[in-house]
Amino acid sequence: MIDPFVYTALPCRVVFGSGTLARLGDELDRLGVKRALVLCTPLQRDLAERAARGVGSRAAGVFAGAVMHTPVDVTERALAEVHAKGVDGLVALGGGSTTGLGKALALRTDLPQLVVPTTYAGSEMTPILGETKDGVKTTTRSPKVLPEVVLYDVDLTLSLPPALSGTSGINAIAHAVEALYAQDRNPITSLMAEEGIRALAGALPALVRAPGDRDARERALYGAWLCGTCLGAVGMALHHKLCHALGGSFDLPHAETHTVVLPHATAFNAPAAPSAMAAIARALGRADADAAAGLYALAGEVGAARALKDLGMPGAGIDRAADLALASPYWNPRPLERAAIRELLARAWAGEPPQTN
Ligand code: NAD
Repeated sequence: MIDPFVYTALPCRVVFGSGTLARLGDELDRLGVKRALVLCTPLQRDLAERAARGVGSRAAGVFAGAVMHTPVDVTERALAEVHAKGVDGLVALGGGSTTGLGKALALRTDLPQLVVPTTYAGSEMTPILGETKDGVKTTTRSPKVLPEVVLYDVDLTLSLPPALSGTSGINAIAHAVEALYAQDRNPITSLMAEEGIRALAGALPALVRAPGDRDARERALYGAWLCGTCLGAVGMALHHKLCHALGGSFDLPHAETHTVVLPHATAFNAPAAPSAMAAIARALGRADADAAAGLYALAGEVGAARALKDLGMPGAGIDRAADLALASPYWNPRPLERAAIRELLARAWAGEPPQTN
């Protein structure tokens, strides 16, 4: 039986492969961009400058000031360069932080965006922007922030350190896990979600062992694209709400927090979402583990921290985090009871295995 559904496809051109950065100039021409500002973090300046040189006069300059959580003051500095240099398009080269800066500029200017992702975070496939001002994070959903073109170049992911590769990949898996039990789930997104988890779960242990394994890198980036598409297409639930609250309140690192919380949020939702759990377990391919246990095992296999206390969260923060998760909650397949949420957080804080009940 097929349940009734609504599916809205988002317009975005995707170019995937190895060496695709060489096509940046052609893609800018296709968009009609003649003076692009290339955005990056301070760490990725060399790569951005190489990309800018590669497109010649189509690059107006490099802005290497992107940082985590898209602070508005950084956006304002970049906006001043956009105006001063007569920029007519944006190239965001990097992870979710750089993509966030590109989106923040696009929201204010409506300039076309071309994103070259170098992590597995998936922001490039979504019309969602999270920004911070005076320590407060706000989220905007607007078609203006959805990039026009995404250019995936597997070669650029080879330098992603093994530890960040593992957690960034599990951050991507989290989008697919929640897409499988989303209120507005649909057959297409669910196909992409299961395939995305399968691709990443197979690739991550291999690339953490051998970061230069091109085949594993290719499968991981393909999986990240699928999972990012899920994030852009359907609503997220308890897991993303918890990570949003934890990241904002205790300044915890993004991908690492997702990696710790995911097995526990999955276990919490398991009784309310049996078919999603079956799909996740199938995709993880661990014969002896259910969905939540399989995700916990995967985090261990990639060498990630599995306890919030190891990411710097104080034990005294568990109650505050439980309150935040229950304040303006996202829709969730299982009703949220405070005692069970607190227990989930306490287990995640201590690094215990997830418990389904
Ligand atoms: P990031 O962009 O902050 O990158 C982490 C660090 O790794 C940076 O210093 C970066 O320069 C470096 N790096 C990136 N790629 C590299 C590579 N290939 N080789 C070497 N170093 C590399 O981390 P992230 O996890 O990609 O992004 C996190 C941010 O993205 C958060 O702010 C999060 O809220 C946001 N995000 C937003 C969405 C959305 O839809 N709006 C989705 C996912 C994540």
